[in-house]
Amino acid sequence: MEAHQERRKRVAFVLIDGLGDISIPKLGGKTPLQAANIPSLDAIASAGINGLMDPVEVGLGCGSDTAHLSLLGYDPRVYYRGRGAFESMGAGLAMSPGDIAFKSNFATLDEKSGTVVSRRADRHFEEEGPILCAALDGMKLPSFPEYEVRVRYATEHRCGVVVKGPKLSGNISGTDPLKDNRLLLEAKALDNTEEAHHTAKVINELSREISRILVSHPVNAKRVAEGKNIANVVLLRGCGIRIEVPPFQKKHCLRPCMVAPTKIIAGLGLSLGIDILEAPGATGDYRTLLTSKAIAIANALSAPSNKCPNVFVPGEDEHKPGRSDGYDFGFLHIKAIDDAGHDKATLFKVRGLEAVDKAILQLGKLLWKVESESSGMFEYFLCVTGDHSTPVEYGDHSFETVPFTICRLRDFVGAVGGENALLKTSLDPFPLPTVADSGEDMAGEEGNSVRRQVEAFGGDSVSEFNEIAAARGCLGRFPGGEMMGVIKKFLELNV
Ligand SMILES: [Zn+2]
Repeated sequence: MEAHQERRKRVAFVLIDGLGDISIPKLGGKTPLQAANIPSLDAIASAGINGLMDPVEVGLGCGSDTAHLSLLGYDPRVYYRGRGAFESMGAGLAMSPGDIAFKSNFATLDEKSGTVVSRRADRHFEEEGPILCAALDGMKLPSFPEYEVRVRYATEHRCGVVVKGPKLSGNISGTDPLKDNRLLLEAKALDNTEEAHHTAKVINELSREISRILVSHPVNAKRVAEGKNIANVVLLRGCGIRIEVPPFQKKHCLRPCMVAPTKIIAGLGLSLGIDILEAPGATGDYRTLLTSKAIAIANALSAPSNKCPNVFVPGEDEHKPGRSDGYDFGFLHIKAIDDAGHDKATLFKVRGLEAVDKAILQLGKLLWKVESESSGMFEYFLCVTGDHSTPVEYGDHSFETVPFTICRLRDFVGAVGGENALLKTSLDPFPLPTVADSGEDMAGEEGNSVRRQVEAFGGDSVSEFNEIAAARGCLGRFPGGEMMGVIKKFLELNV
């Protein structure tokens, strides 16, 4: 080691999907964050600085992919090109800039009438789906031999389809009628460019050729013999081109990695040149193991060299040489809270947030061990926010702001009661509670939500992490497009 080595400032960025909520009558007028017992999140808010964030812009409810682009510093109004490419890359299909991709379903077509009788050939397609995808992968288009077609199984009846080749446009409509018992559609150009018209022709031939291969496949002969729906068409929708953007590292001078078991988020990360890490047992739904994600991020942020284990890079190696060794920006994505919002599961959202809080304490402990033993080589920061609100009352994404907080790990350690308290934290994995565990009734909940009274460590007077307290934070209300700037500024100021 050299005598003088620059201190490495690294951020653990925890993105809680669908975090924000509204005052819930059932919770005595509190938001789920206010009702939850979340001492670690409160400690970050207390130790650091806070604000309320509009993920894209004031009054806009948005999808997760749009919001993530905005937060990571890529204006979705400039860069967003549909979710097809994110889904396909997340499913493990490599894409180069200019390639197009679709979100796709195996479905059942009545060949005589051209009607899609069932948009889902079979929900349980885990065995047959990969076989049919393998039969389609690498297929040739007779009139357009210059194109390469890649097909990869995703989940249930879904697969990713990527077309690679010259002069493709993402601006075409799909073949999916979106409802059962409607005619299979033809892809059409959505603008007047030569590329869009040409791409529509390519995709219509692709759709016919896919059906030709599927109809004669033994898997389908067997399905028909067993009286099951034939999977004789792949519906293509959400056409998207791989976005061409400066990689995250180049834009922000922070070498990024991500733990995101949700395919669309992983695909979005890959599109921005972010390495995707594998975390065993982390599934992106209720059964997810948060501890496993915390360990993966802590390992990546403490890696002394670029060779971080478990890096998953589908297809070509997109590894970029680092500004420094290891990763500087560890993105930990948590999906279960958004699911609770969509399911209108109020108590599950509260209990889920408490589980996330526990995992954040584990993450804090893991990183503090590295920082305190690194002789000043590493300095860590914890940052937590959401990508949009998914209020349990609405069961859908909404435009309400989300709280944002960031602090130095050192100050977090103080706010949770010092190093000794932190080191007692168990690193045993624990499951998220299930909806059934959460019980039905929130009666009596108000009284026993005991909040740790944490001392404010400067920055602002906020000492709790929730939508109401964050409004008093020194960052005020800011658009998500400014978030990376806030994070980088905070790192700079904390010398
Ligand atoms: Zn989301």
